[in-house]
Amino acid sequence: MDISFQQVGYLYAKDSPFEKRALQNVTATIPSGSYTSIIGHTGSGKSTLLLHLNGLLKPSEGVVKIGDTLITSQTKGKQLKDIRHRVGIVFQFPEHQLFEETVEKDIMFGPLNFGVPKEIARDRAHELVRLLGLPEDVLQKSPFELSGGQMRRVAIAGVLAFKPSILVLDEPTAGLDPRGRKEIMELFHRLHETENLTTILVTHSMEDAARYSDRILVMHEGTSVMEGPPEEIFEQEEQLHSYRLGIPRSVHFQRKVENMIGQRFGRIALTEEM
Ligand code: ADP
Repeated sequence: MDISFQQVGYLYAKDSPFEKRALQNVTATIPSGSYTSIIGHTGSGKSTLLLHLNGLLKPSEGVVKIGDTLITSQTKGKQLKDIRHRVGIVFQFPEHQLFEETVEKDIMFGPLNFGVPKEIARDRAHELVRLLGLPEDVLQKSPFELSGGQMRRVAIAGVLAFKPSILVLDEPTAGLDPRGRKEIMELFHRLHETENLTTILVTHSMEDAARYSDRILVMHEGTSVMEGPPEEIFEQEEQLHSYRLGIPRSVHFQRKVENMIGQRFGRIALTEEM
């Protein structure tokens, strides 16, 4: 399911004295099966754009296309519900949304609400706990007895329980220490590879964008300004600079090595320096 934005504009509090334009003329494609990072300075419109991916916001102007489904300012209930099923969003600090008595119930909550039979929802919860590398005995624990990293995995399982084909991650490592960050990013990498999930990462980390994604979309002042593979995007240092973005240290490192051995800048190396 390709995603495309066609001249998308968005105004918060439209037609009120507080009207604020957040997106203007965003035109971009996120290919099915890709791992796309959306980067851009604070206030460039990344979060507003991602809320359009499952119909939490509808474009004020233009069209968002998800597979065959078109979302415009006129799109109504049933279609949006259908989209929410296919697009899972992991918001920042997703563990704040845990609320059930047990982990099992928490993961089952979404599917049960969507009419999935109880036995199937339960099997799915057990399967997800294994997939996310959590011990089986967490299922009967309260989510609030778990460590921060485990809580986050449970919350992610709750999103995956809908069996989305597109997974959207909004700064998924916020608040974790470097080890926790790496574990979560490796987990999404594995999910992308094994579950055939189109993955969209909104991140401040140029390192993560370079390391994990195969496509980058750059936002600046509410519009899409660059898109392409990381090796192409990070070659354009001056342009990125004008959008107040740096290039990852790993790319600096690779260029230095290449200058020494006279090779051309190719695929970004997954060095331990990152
Ligand atoms: P980013 O995620 O890149 O930091 P946002 O999408 O949050 O950018 O913000 C884009 C613009 O929209 C900013 O100018 C921001 O101040 C504005 N904005 C974001 N949320 C709201 C809101 N709920 N009401 C009014 N303006 C908003």
